Amino acid sequence: RPGRSRPAGAPGAASCSLLHVPLDAATERDIEPQVRRWLAFARQKTAEIATLARGLSQGTDAIAAELAANRADLASRASSALTRDPAVRSRTAAITAADGRRSQPYAERAAAQRAHLGLPLLPTTTIGSFPQTDELRVARADLRAGRIDTAGYEERIKDEIREVLSFQEKTGVDVLVHGEPERNDMVQYFAEQLTGYVATQHGWVQSYGTRYVRPPVLAGDISRPEPMTVRWTTYAQAQTSKPVKGMLTGPVTMLAWSFVRDDQPLGDTARQVALALRDEVNDLEAAGTSVIQVDEPALRETLPLRAADHAAYLDWATESFRLSTSGVRPDTQIHTHMCYAEFGDIVQAIDDLDADVISLEAARSHMQVAGELAEHGYPREAGPGVWDIHSPRVPSTQEAAALLRKGLEAIPAERLWVNPDCGLKTRGWTETRASLENLVSAAREVRAGLTTDNG
Ligand code: GLN
Ligand code: ZN
Repeated sequence: RPGRSRPAGAPGAASCSLLHVPLDAATERDIEPQVRRWLAFARQKTAEIATLARGLSQGTDAIAAELAANRADLASRASSALTRDPAVRSRTAAITAADGRRSQPYAERAAAQRAHLGLPLLPTTTIGSFPQTDELRVARADLRAGRIDTAGYEERIKDEIREVLSFQEKTGVDVLVHGEPERNDMVQYFAEQLTGYVATQHGWVQSYGTRYVRPPVLAGDISRPEPMTVRWTTYAQAQTSKPVKGMLTGPVTMLAWSFVRDDQPLGDTARQVALALRDEVNDLEAAGTSVIQVDEPALRETLPLRAADHAAYLDWATESFRLSTSGVRPDTQIHTHMCYAEFGDIVQAIDDLDADVISLEAARSHMQVAGELAEHGYPREAGPGVWDIHSPRVPSTQEAAALLRKGLEAIPAERLWVNPDCGLKTRGWTETRASLENLVSAAREVRAGLTTDNG
């Protein structure tokens, strides 16, 4: 307070709560000791505050050893092969504007995709995950405990994929998904397979309410030693003649739900992740995947607080998404997904992603986003959700059909998709079955009305 003298002894405090950092980096025995020394969790940060306070009250000589150790750690990071991978660096340095652009404009792509996919008007799909059942959790626990081996675990995953596919086929869904049963978490699953990411054992932080997550750490330059999802996606595609959507987590979300590097701009890290994902997207296409969804649910939440910082963020965010998705043929359909209904301040950025199809949360706001997209002049396909998956309530066919008709007031039938608000991993099978059946009936009913009206 002005006018009040500081007490002797220079107290120190963190500038914000330690709620969002894990407790103690020292417990991370699986992280290489040198890399571990680059991390400061709550205990390390608190110790640093005490060191700084001592330096302020007793002079820097009193903390010379700590300062030297810190300088050595930072120097080891700056010269480490993990943080400076020449192959990754030369690749990001060689990125050109053309790498972030599809080879053809949307109108031509849309025609090629229509011919290639042969989908009906108002095509139905889901956002990716199907219920994470107790059996799946047990399978993962069995694998960890050594009660089953990898082969046994993968058999259970395959059983689940076949069940999810046969349900979708029977129900009449147009673009199928494999259900993501092999994924513990949509960021962690990819982080575990990318070089440069480090996983923690005890790095729990509060996500919301009583839910805790263990975000992976972006420790070094990112590269993809081998394909990450191609095997499961092609297994799924081999079971059905309908298109199976490949499912990836986008670069912004990969950063937003991890601990990021502070030794380079976020945009540089995002571009590295984007190039790794670009290889995955291209490999999926080469393996016969015609529809690929790159989820970016964190695009809005990562928007900086200060308006002055928005443009720079949206620039690298949209560029990195396009980098991941622009290497494909015109007839390969790129989807993206975001789960929030209030996106007015980033609608231009959503347009700049240049995805062929976007699915959004819309059920609770009664398709408000459809109107906002239309008002913006959004030129591509969109699936405003017609089923609020945050609740176990099953929407009736009439209710879903009414929402679809509302959507049609804003988005023409050629560009409107039918899907839930988000993935189904937190839902049970009972309501999932009933809700998806109703969603498909609603699409059929509204579709039939369109053909009658037209002629
Ligand atoms: N594909 C993911 C899923 O269905 C998307 C999750 C999300 O939007 N948070 O689970
Ligand atoms: Zn979602």
